[in-house]
Amino acid sequence: MRHPDVDQAGVTPDVDVIIVGAGFAGLYALYRFRKLGLRVRAFEAGSGIGGTWFWNRYPGARCDVDSLEYSYSFSDDLQQEWDWPDRFSTQADILRYIHHVADRFDLRRDIQLDTRVQSAAFDASGNLWRITTAEGQTTTARFCVMATGNLSLPRVPDFAGLESFKGDWHHTGRWPNRPVDFTGRRVGVIGTGSSGIQLIPIIAQQASELIVFQRTANFTLPARNRALSADERDRHKTRYGFWRAEAQNTPFGIAGHPAPTKNALDDTAEARLAKFEEKWRNGGSISFLYSYKDLLTSKAANDTAAEFVRGKIRSTVKDPATAELLVPKDHPIGARRLCLDTGYYETFNRPNVKLVDTKSAPIVAITETGVQTAAATYALDTIVFATGFDAITGALADIDIRGRDGLTLRQKWAHGPRTYLGLMTAGFPNLFIVTGPGSPSVKANMVCAIEQHLNWIAGCVAMLDARGSRTIEPDADAETRWIEHVNETADATLYPLAESWYTGANVPGKPRVFMPYVGGYHRYKAICEEVVRDGYRGFVISGLPTLAV
Ligand code: FAD
Ligand code: NAP
Repeated sequence: MRHPDVDQAGVTPDVDVIIVGAGFAGLYALYRFRKLGLRVRAFEAGSGIGGTWFWNRYPGARCDVDSLEYSYSFSDDLQQEWDWPDRFSTQADILRYIHHVADRFDLRRDIQLDTRVQSAAFDASGNLWRITTAEGQTTTARFCVMATGNLSLPRVPDFAGLESFKGDWHHTGRWPNRPVDFTGRRVGVIGTGSSGIQLIPIIAQQASELIVFQRTANFTLPARNRALSADERDRHKTRYGFWRAEAQNTPFGIAGHPAPTKNALDDTAEARLAKFEEKWRNGGSISFLYSYKDLLTSKAANDTAAEFVRGKIRSTVKDPATAELLVPKDHPIGARRLCLDTGYYETFNRPNVKLVDTKSAPIVAITETGVQTAAATYALDTIVFATGFDAITGALADIDIRGRDGLTLRQKWAHGPRTYLGLMTAGFPNLFIVTGPGSPSVKANMVCAIEQHLNWIAGCVAMLDARGSRTIEPDADAETRWIEHVNETADATLYPLAESWYTGANVPGKPRVFMPYVGGYHRYKAICEEVVRDGYRGFVISGLPTLAV
């Protein structure tokens, strides 16, 4: 469907919708907009599709949400025909799935790979977005959808001397598309977040020596990954509709975990221990956080769960000094991403593995031969940076995005991101963000959050076309009130007690703002639906009066 006024204004856009990114979000966006009969083009910086699962090929990379949940729900045929081999599938299997989806729905013909979008500018005279790539190619569209990812801009800290290092180095988020052999090598891993925790046990089995540089100890739980039996998969498939519907009514967009009914301190110490033990045995993080209602809102409740895991670390790691370093003491459990591992703590019992504390003695430089901390130097053949991402806003800030009157997104977000519902930002008409700051995004099963966002966006575009309206953008007051709500919601939890990439704390100089909406996926979805029922409350639609929030 094309908007007649566009041509009347004398400017014909090249396409209706430009999508930036071809990960889970970009691919579903293509599918969804094509269904509306729109002309769509996707630009992807990588040489292949898949986003996170294209770039993060490091050993041990897997999802930490069960694959039966962490997958598209939009096509029952797709979910019936696809067989996930593992409970938590490997990067390779997830990428294989993404390729299958692209082929099955004939998505590739509208994707331009190896194409980095450098700028996006709104032209108010024709109500168009003009997208320019790094190669200078310009394309115009009525709508621009940023499917650029929350964890897509890797960060190598600004260590002095990296260029002088004579060995090899890799970042987990830009892992080479070929095997990297660590056999017989002295390897240093910097970073012990989810990526480091997944790859350290595997590298330890190959390297002659592994030095783990840890600044902040994180909580991690056993994944208990396993192969899924054909019987288990078939049983799930017969009730797939039921599970998908259930996921929609949960805070994390994940089915299969009955909501807790009790607070932690309502149970006896013995009953709590039994519950935590059962969760520890079954593996997974959502199930553990679902032990009690108040684990993420009451410090006293949280302490019981944190102490349980601290006890597990102390009883697993044989060297008491190493165990003490691995015990997280500075944040509530779950307030940073709760990691999942396979044999992480056990790895520190190996004779070839050493843990180095870079909080007490920070890394001061990379030298020709290895890593130098304030206390010692370590000779290395390979360095792995598991140092994370400029998360949530990084990929957006990397593009020169200009809205009305030349306002740049970088300027507007200089003190922290501002959005309404995480979907749009005032002053940038017809620019949609998928899983943007202020939406549940990384605090939910992201495939579920992506589908919800794109269904909303597609509905919005269809509404504009049906009404003959040309632009939509948030009302500035509605945006302010949403940000206040996001902040109040976070302040009622323990999340702000942790320094993390959720707050921008991992990037020096980045504004400290708690970015995701933690009121729960189900509540957020209900708010989005209510906004639509109220005639797009809080949005300014050209040709229509605004409804106050
Ligand atoms: P991405 O997959 O990040 O795709 C964005 C794409 O946009 C990238 O390919 C990027 O190259 C491209 N792009 C960005 N900027 C530009 C530009 N300027 N021009 C052109 N292209 C651009 N989430 C979960 O819910 N469960 C999990 O188990 C889970 N595991 C994860 C494991 C790892 C190792 C990581 C890093 C993240 C994980 N996540 C997980 C989060 C994961 O990012 C999302 O689940 C999901 O894959 C995001 O999809 P996306 O399409 O939104 O973004
Ligand atoms: P991360 O959680 O941000 O961890 C980065 C690590 O690098 C931290 O330990 C950090 O220490 C350390 N670091 C950063 N700069 C440093 C410096 N200058 N000196 C010393 N150490 C430094 O990044 P990530 O592990 O890549 O994970 C990011 C997110 O991706 C996860 O939280 C998760 O959402 C997703 N992910 C999921 C999985 C999965 O299991 N499915 C796997 C990988 C990633 P500090 O903590 O002290 O800053």
